[in-house]
Amino acid sequence: MKSEEVLDIYRKTGALLTGHFLLSSGLHSEQYLQSALVLQQPDIASKLCAALAEPFKGSNIQAVIAPALGGVFVSHETARALGVRALFAERVNGELTLRRGFTIRPGERVLVVEDVITTGKSTKETIEVVKQAGGVAVAAASLVDRSGGKAELGLPYKSLVTMSVPTYAPEACPLCKAGSTPVKPGSRGLK
Ligand SMILES: [Zn+2]
Repeated sequence: MKSEEVLDIYRKTGALLTGHFLLSSGLHSEQYLQSALVLQQPDIASKLCAALAEPFKGSNIQAVIAPALGGVFVSHETARALGVRALFAERVNGELTLRRGFTIRPGERVLVVEDVITTGKSTKETIEVVKQAGGVAVAAASLVDRSGGKAELGLPYKSLVTMSVPTYAPEACPLCKAGSTPVKPGSRGLK
């Protein structure tokens, strides 16, 4: 699937927003991606995740895992395309953990997925969850790489589209300097 096609889907579903946003990293940005608005359409989610799964079809992947909540549907639909289990890790007291009886067997080959990777922090934590369970984190994949290709995960990494969106420290943000106040996406029911 071509990256322009993926971006077009994001735009058409209202999942690519323009404004002045406070990201969860604390940085400010003019763009915000709300993948939930893409993934709420099961047929679109299936199609995107089938494309995400494609390069890993020969990699003997045995399970897919994502950090909750954003990655849950990506894990599910990517796992469907690969014919394997879909797991997710969730935060307990701030730490990503396997719950709900999910297990990874020693040596099990796991693909780590996300909707959007910005800094790669949650993905790296999820890779650690796999390793701590004794599994092998084979590769990582996300629908969107928002790091502009800069995220270093220590694993082979694929995304459907790479975006380079400038982010600013609050004190260096030109939008703040122009007098606007950033919106925390969650405060408008976005994420
Ligand atoms: Zn700002």
